[in-house]
Amino acid sequence: MKELMYEGKAKKVFKAENENEVYIYYKDDATAFNGVKRSKISNKGILNNEITEILFIKLGKLGVKNHFIKRIDDRTQLCQKVDIIPLEFIVRNYIAGSMAKRLQIEEGTKPSNTIFEICLKDDELGDPLINDHHAVALNICSYEELHHMYKMANKVNEILSETFIKEGIILVDFKIEFGKNNQGEILLADEISPDTCRLWDSETLEKLDKDRFRRDLGSIEEAYIEILKRIK
Ligand code: UDP
Repeated sequence: MKELMYEGKAKKVFKAENENEVYIYYKDDATAFNGVKRSKISNKGILNNEITEILFIKLGKLGVKNHFIKRIDDRTQLCQKVDIIPLEFIVRNYIAGSMAKRLQIEEGTKPSNTIFEICLKDDELGDPLINDHHAVALNICSYEELHHMYKMANKVNEILSETFIKEGIILVDFKIEFGKNNQGEILLADEISPDTCRLWDSETLEKLDKDRFRRDLGSIEEAYIEILKRIK
């Protein structure tokens, strides 16, 4: 039995044989609205494990350093152990979700520039939107580290937008996280999946992501299967 180090909403992290590595196990649990809405989506863990594997391998090949080492089984991957930097980096190519609501802008509006946001990872506070100065003042990271992470987020956006559009999918927005390995190097970490991205079919604008769960649109598993099928 592997030793559990941490259990989150969608994944469990276990100790690995090498102290610089961890096993990440993808669950079927789905939560939304800061944990208020909870359910299970059949096979979500299997689908997100494989989708994340494909995207992290691709990003790694194109120079985005990340924690992924290899897939172990249908729900587990071996990753470098990192200390997660408690920030969520959100990148928006189109307006949707919380930004559409907060600023009363119609979903699907294309802004003239790519929008980058950071939120403090703190469930009790509801992951509040903060800015660079807050992050530095809270001793989360330095301005130089922020600059580096924004640059990585921009590169992730360029690579993923191109990858998805070739398969007829618009990358509307997404969230990524970073961590520091034992060398102090900043790596892309966590996952990239329909749980963490908004993905719309480019022909029909059909939502193929977690909004199907958040908004009770049905056919959630089918949407995740469709994303995997197209990027595979
Ligand atoms: N997102 C995420 N985890 C979070 C918050 C947001 O993965 O805790 C993703 C979400 O799926 C979307 C993007 O980040 O692709 C932007 O989310 P938004 O700020 O619009 O918030 P939401 O509408 O998801 O509450």
